[in-house]
Amino acid sequence: MRPRALSALALGLVLLVTGCGEAGKSPEKAAAPPSASPSPSPTPVTKPSPTHTTPAKPKLRPVPKKLPAGLHRASGSNGVALTFDDGPDPRYTPQILAQLRAARVKATFCVVGKQAKRYPELVARIVREGHQLCNHSWHHDVNLGRRSAAEIRSDLERTNEAIHAAAPKAPITWFRQPGGRWTAEEVAIAKQMGLRPLHWSVDPQDWDHPPAKTIIKRVKGATRHGSVVLMHDAGGDRAQTMAACRHLIPDLKRRFGIALPR
Ligand SMILES: [Zn+2]
Repeated sequence: MRPRALSALALGLVLLVTGCGEAGKSPEKAAAPPSASPSPSPTPVTKPSPTHTTPAKPKLRPVPKKLPAGLHRASGSNGVALTFDDGPDPRYTPQILAQLRAARVKATFCVVGKQAKRYPELVARIVREGHQLCNHSWHHDVNLGRRSAAEIRSDLERTNEAIHAAAPKAPITWFRQPGGRWTAEEVAIAKQMGLRPLHWSVDPQDWDHPPAKTIIKRVKGATRHGSVVLMHDAGGDRAQTMAACRHLIPDLKRRFGIALPR
């Protein structure tokens, strides 16, 4: 684990570039270098016989070094937007819903299609209790933005369908790329589908299982009016996030107000 002091210094930077643990700690590392031809010498014009070739893996487009334009990274109001990713999860989503209800505030749930299909009653409850939905891909594909337009579109559609099977006609306002590994192509496709691309401005890295007091310190240190806070109600042991939220939700409500992003 990193020393606290360094951690605090690095936080500002880290907050903007990470998120969703499955992406790994250095999401950029996975970006493939521009592929060089394996044989630089002139090759014969004849195509190899198809019977002897294995189908080439579709090439993934690189993740840009800078986040693409058009992402929503602020709540759009003075209030702070709370976002909960990777669920729904029967252990934690009901706890967060109960906390939000007690505080009389609304949040955005970035749900994974497979989870929505498995726990439709939780998706329905999220909607029934007045919260907002965000598509977070079918199976939390951190490389989704790097795939073909058709693959991106069908993943988002499949996820929307699972959500609508659980909560027919519920508006799906947002899309959030797992790990925040956006590409411009993906942002464009999401927008064409009526899904607004939602990033974040505060990431306490709760997916890495820091103690609740660290999650609280990170969120309180970085949150301002209009922040979008990223946390997780699924994807692993979220007991520390649940504990942190018992303090954070009333605290952020009192200091900034809690609002849905818009
Ligand atoms: Zn995620």
